[in-house]
Amino acid sequence: MTELGPDGGPDADLVVLGGGSGGYAAALRASELGMRVVLVERDKVGGTCLHRGCIPTKALLHTAEVAEQVREAGKVGVQAAFEAVDMKAANAYKDGVVTRLFKGLTGLVNSRGIEVVAGEGRLVSPTALQVGDRRIEGRHVLLATGSEAKSLPGLDVDHERVITSDDALRMDRIPASVVIIGAGAIGCEFASVWKAFGAEVTLVEALPHLVPMEDESSSKLLERAFRRRGIGFELGARLAGVRVTDAGATVTLETGKTIDAEVVLVAVGRAPVSAGLGYEAQGVEMDRGFVTVDELCRTNVATISALGDLVPTPQLAHVGFGEGILVAERLASLNPAPIDYDRVPQVTYSHPEVASVGITAAEAKQRGHDVATATYDLAGNGKALILRTAGAVTVVADREGPVLGVHMVGERVSELAAEAQLITNWEALPGEVAQLIHPHPTMSEAVGEAHLALAGKPLHSHG
Ligand code: NAD
Repeated sequence: MTELGPDGGPDADLVVLGGGSGGYAAALRASELGMRVVLVERDKVGGTCLHRGCIPTKALLHTAEVAEQVREAGKVGVQAAFEAVDMKAANAYKDGVVTRLFKGLTGLVNSRGIEVVAGEGRLVSPTALQVGDRRIEGRHVLLATGSEAKSLPGLDVDHERVITSDDALRMDRIPASVVIIGAGAIGCEFASVWKAFGAEVTLVEALPHLVPMEDESSSKLLERAFRRRGIGFELGARLAGVRVTDAGATVTLETGKTIDAEVVLVAVGRAPVSAGLGYEAQGVEMDRGFVTVDELCRTNVATISALGDLVPTPQLAHVGFGEGILVAERLASLNPAPIDYDRVPQVTYSHPEVASVGITAAEAKQRGHDVATATYDLAGNGKALILRTAGAVTVVADREGPVLGVHMVGERVSELAAEAQLITNWEALPGEVAQLIHPHPTMSEAVGEAHLALAGKPLHSHG
């Protein structure tokens, strides 16, 4: 039976399926704009990012950073001996952060008057979801069911020896050795965590570099840093097979090389969660499991929008937030501008971090730009030396035009992504950025120095 809203019409102006970053952001903004919103979630509001992704991994990465700092404490004059990482305490700290954020989010959702319906929802008409025996009608429906870890054909994820990032976050012990298949963000972040925790780590990457989607200069710097940290990696490696043994697993490459490990983490990307949810049956256009959308997150069905990891845009929580706001504002007829996906910040929170905004030098050349680049090595930056981090800032620009990309490697460069974002999104000229005075001594000076060099007036570099 259709449940009717107070005016005899639909239950809500917007019914959202999935309460992850994209879904809840849309719900929050829509309710702020005066819409009645129902949010359907089968697990916990907050989704992958809060419960199985961004937040818990960054907590573990912080534990890893502290462990490394204790090991290195003597180098800055602090006498401290590293004993061990207590996984139980590390997990309690990680879970505590997640719980606090979850409570805050739940409070926010409630305070905006959003009705959260717990359960598995299915699209049953262009304007309705079925959750158990309840049918929820909306003027508009937003599909935001996110993604899940992918595996490889023929590779059996048993969640014990061969695991995904979900399993890795639940582990209550530190494995002695790990092979990580895939050196994207997830692979490189877990490599950093486990190495700091004392495991022997080997990354296996099919493409020729670590973080292969980043500018080649950043990949090479991360490779140098990982090599120094004793993290092993096989690049351009083709996997022949993974065999589970009593002691763990043996990974065989096509070259015949074998690597034994206690655990194998599969980190080869994430696939959209869309099967069996009624999307195709309601005529929603799909492509390899992704829902097809236009630049305003509209599907081919007038009443249905989709966003986040379910659509083929960058699978990043902050993209989900942006798309959520966009959908709510479009439905409220505020005419939001499409998102410029080329200029979305991207960060891998490994040690050291890799952060970028904008396109790589290779991509800029491919698009026909007359490319100019400048790199400022963090070896010349006082704060980086104090923090004992290596890395660089590379700026890619059109020789006659604006900055096209900023690519950074080093501890805490994630925090510099905010400035890089303003520079690239405002299409600043290198000379304009070179005019800006950066606080001294900070790592942000490296951003200024790279632009000074690009503008032909290097200060603390040879240009
Ligand atoms: P990814 O796509 O970033 O990286 C997967 C890597 O696996 C790629 O480099 C790919 O070349 C490699 N690969 C694929 N098949 C392989 C094979 N058979 N053998 C060896 N290597 C193989 O995916 P991910 O790291 O799993 O992350 C999933 C998604 O989540 C990504 O979109 C990522 O950006 C996002 N994410 C982002 C962050 C962050 O922003 N810090 C953190 C975690 C995940």
